[in-house]
Amino acid sequence: MKNLFFISALLCFFNSQSQEHSHKSTRALSFPDISGYVTLKTDLHQHTVFSDGNVWPTIRVQEALRDNLDVISLTEHIEYQPHLADIPHPDRNRSYEIALEEAKNHDLMLIHGTEITRRAPAGHSNAIFVSDVNSLMQKDSVAQFAAAKSQGAFVFWNHPAWYAQRPQGNPILSNFQKERIANKELHGIEVINTTDYSEEALAIALENDLTIMGTSDIHGLIDWDYIEKGYSRPVTLVFSKERTKASLKEALFEGRTVAVFNELIVGKSEYVKPLLKACIKIENATYISNTEILKIELKNISSNNILFENTMDYTFYSSSPVFEIKGGETKTLQVKTLKKLTSLNLQLKAISAYDAPKSHPIINWFISLD
Ligand SMILES: [Zn+2]
Ligand SMILES: [Zn+2]
Repeated sequence: MKNLFFISALLCFFNSQSQEHSHKSTRALSFPDISGYVTLKTDLHQHTVFSDGNVWPTIRVQEALRDNLDVISLTEHIEYQPHLADIPHPDRNRSYEIALEEAKNHDLMLIHGTEITRRAPAGHSNAIFVSDVNSLMQKDSVAQFAAAKSQGAFVFWNHPAWYAQRPQGNPILSNFQKERIANKELHGIEVINTTDYSEEALAIALENDLTIMGTSDIHGLIDWDYIEKGYSRPVTLVFSKERTKASLKEALFEGRTVAVFNELIVGKSEYVKPLLKACIKIENATYISNTEILKIELKNISSNNILFENTMDYTFYSSSPVFEIKGGETKTLQVKTLKKLTSLNLQLKAISAYDAPKSHPIINWFISLD
C-alpha cells in the first residue's frame, strides 16, 4: 500500500510538473462559443494605484488569469488622482505599459483605456482602444470625447445610474449623451457596474442601439469584493470573429455582447439566446421503461448557474417547473409526454436572463428520439 501511495504521489507530481504554467483556479469563468463567433470574457473597467485603486497594475493581470479572462482594460480616472503626492504620474499611459509587460507571456489581451471623470450630466465614461491617454487630458469634456474619437476609441457610459450623481438611482440620458451618440463618440453603456444592475440603463441601450456592458469597476481586490462574497466578477462577453484586438474592437462597435454577473445574464436577444442555448448540452434523452416519461439530461457547460422555467405544455414528473442548473453540473428532467414521441422541442424560459427589461428569453432545443 505504501508503495502504491508513493507511485501515485510520484505520478501526481510529474503530472503537475508537465502541465503548462497556469494561474487558473477553481473560480475560473467559462462560457461556450456561439455559432460564428469566439466568446471572449472581458472586464474593461478596472482601477489601480495610478488612479483611486489600491493595487499595482500587475495584480490586475494576475487576477484576470485566475478568473480565466481573455481581455482586460485598466481605466484610470483622468481627473481623479488621489495618490498624486506619492505617485506623480506624469505619463498617463504607465499603468497600461506595466500591465502589458506582466501579461506578455500569457494568453491575455490588454486594451489601453482610461476613464473620463466628470460631474453629471456628462458623468463618467471609459474610452478604450486609445493610443495616448495624455492627449485626452483636456479641460473641456466635449473636446475629450472628440480626442477619443480621433484615436478610434470605443467609448461607453459608466454606471449611469450611480446614486452619487443620480439620487433616484436611475440614469438620465441628457443632451450631453444624446449629442455624443449623434456624433458617434459614445457607443456603449454599462447595465451592470460592480454589483448594481440597472433595467433603465438596459432600456437606454436598446432604444439607442448602445453596446451592453458589464464591468467590475474594481478598486480593491477581486477576491475581497467578489470571490469571498460568493460572487464572480461582472464581465462582458464579447462575440468576436477572431481572438484578436481588431476583431474584439469590431464586435464592441457592432454591439455583439452579453453582460453577466452571477446568475444575471443581460443582452440583446440575438446574442443572449444563442449563448444560453450553447451553455446547455443535451446529454441523453430516453423514456423510462414501460412509461411515457422522458428522461432528459441537461449539462450546463458554462461556469454560471442558470435558472429556467418550463414553458412547454408538457409538465414534469419530478422537479419544480422552475429549476436551476449549476455551472458545470447536470440536471435530469422527467417530462410527461403522454405518448411516446419521435422528437421533442424542449422549450425553457431563462428566468435569470433578460433580453429587455422584464423580458426573459425563451430557448428551444430540438431533441430527436428513437
Ligand atoms: Zn466611474
Ligand atoms: Zn471606474
